[in-house]
Amino acid sequence: MLSKVVFLVVCASVNCFPRLTSLQPRFSFYTRSDWHAQPATDLTPLSTPVPYVIIHHTYKPDACTSHQECITAMQSMQRYHMESLDWGDIGYNFCIGNSGDIYEGRGWERKGIHAGKANDVSIGICLIGDWRVDQPPQEMLEATKALIQMGVDKGIISPDYKLVGHNQVMATQCPGTALFDIISKWDHFSNKFSVA
Ligand SMILES: [Zn+2]
Repeated sequence: MLSKVVFLVVCASVNCFPRLTSLQPRFSFYTRSDWHAQPATDLTPLSTPVPYVIIHHTYKPDACTSHQECITAMQSMQRYHMESLDWGDIGYNFCIGNSGDIYEGRGWERKGIHAGKANDVSIGICLIGDWRVDQPPQEMLEATKALIQMGVDKGIISPDYKLVGHNQVMATQCPGTALFDIISKWDHFSNKFSVA
């Protein structure tokens, strides 16, 4: 009995149970080690709960349909963000592939570099691919919603969060017109971004 209690206490403190419970079985969640991320050199913590979720597309790399393609995309983005832009890690908090597989970037607890002044107050989610004309697959969109809900459940994203596109924060085409049209119909979408 004692060992059972100890196990539960230990588990509660280190989160042994799969953090994916709310996502499974529909979406797979891959950690940094799963995609062989390089160690981050920027470990700036994110102040939570955050009031915003920012949606991105990659434009490049292209959409990934297989796990291996998505791993390659994650690695290439991290390499570019670290080596060419000197960002200390991949910029996004999370990225999502065509099949709805979710890839951990900076994760829930570290501040991303993806949307300028919004970095301090948001989780940045990138839907891998060019979504200016083509619409993302339904699985990818549903995984995005599930990931946001997971962040709310974990207390990282404020329950009354606002959802905005990168283009509402900075002058950019990101997340692409087709994707932006979709997210603009989602719950929590906000017409404006403002930092207090
Ligand atoms: Zn963007």
